[in-house]
Amino acid sequence: MAVMESTKMFIHLLAADGKDLEFVPVQVPGKVKAGPKCDYIIISRSEVAPDADGNFLPENFNERERDAIHTYAAARLTITLWEQAIQQKIIWPWLQEGLPGPMKIERYNELVDAAYYQRFRSIELGTTGPSLKFTCRSFDIVSHETTHAIIRAINPRVYDDATLETYACVEALCDISAFLTLAFQPAILDLAIHRTNGDLSAKNFLSEFAEGYSKDPCDGIRSALVIRNIPDDPCAIGSPLIKLVYELLVQLVQDSQKSAQDGVRNLSTKLFGLAAKSRDFQLNTFYRALPKIS
Ligand SMILES: [Zn+2]
Repeated sequence: MAVMESTKMFIHLLAADGKDLEFVPVQVPGKVKAGPKCDYIIISRSEVAPDADGNFLPENFNERERDAIHTYAAARLTITLWEQAIQQKIIWPWLQEGLPGPMKIERYNELVDAAYYQRFRSIELGTTGPSLKFTCRSFDIVSHETTHAIIRAINPRVYDDATLETYACVEALCDISAFLTLAFQPAILDLAIHRTNGDLSAKNFLSEFAEGYSKDPCDGIRSALVIRNIPDDPCAIGSPLIKLVYELLVQLVQDSQKSAQDGVRNLSTKLFGLAAKSRDFQLNTFYRALPKIS
């Protein structure tokens, strides 16, 4: 059987102290070129080259170079999640119209916090929060904006005649996609279980969207633990969907822990298998629902 090519990279997570960034290793599909770039994405104004083995490891780079690698990895892993879940290649709308080129990702745009602009074929990332942190350093924010691009690619007319509920569903799906992309990195779910002593219903970096970007460094901009009631705010209206998906993972962890106590070995492997089925089912359900709600 052919071995799939991959590149060793890393993503940033907020360390347990809530201040420093921790580097978590990830495997990104394909041989990533200097930039980093591939056919899907290119990090603007960056020429970070891989090491002799073709990998990008954190110890070899300065802060801004690490931003480029983390941003690339977060976006690329999100694309991979969707391609696996819907069994379909993601083709950007401009490619479908005959215009060439990957999607650009700009890390330091002073005019925005974070947004996907289809007309510019780019994701623009700037700063946000009380301490004006760079949004490119948040896995969740990069993954959320990449999902906006993916949704527009698989359903270019999603916003035709859109209602507030359409926007709410899309915003919720972008948060869920970021959460699922992160939770399904082999090292990450273990880390979350370890940091919460196995109780994912406690606040942790998986439940908090963009952890560290609100006033309290342990809080996120949004939380999967809380249903918010803010009229006219699509993110708040979509919050029950995010909470539902998150609670499914909490339930799977609890069930698996119970099974482990009953004598089942290798908790992570069992949990991963169960949760992967649930993840694909959830993404496909949203995917099928999208054309109907627009
Ligand atoms: Zn959004």
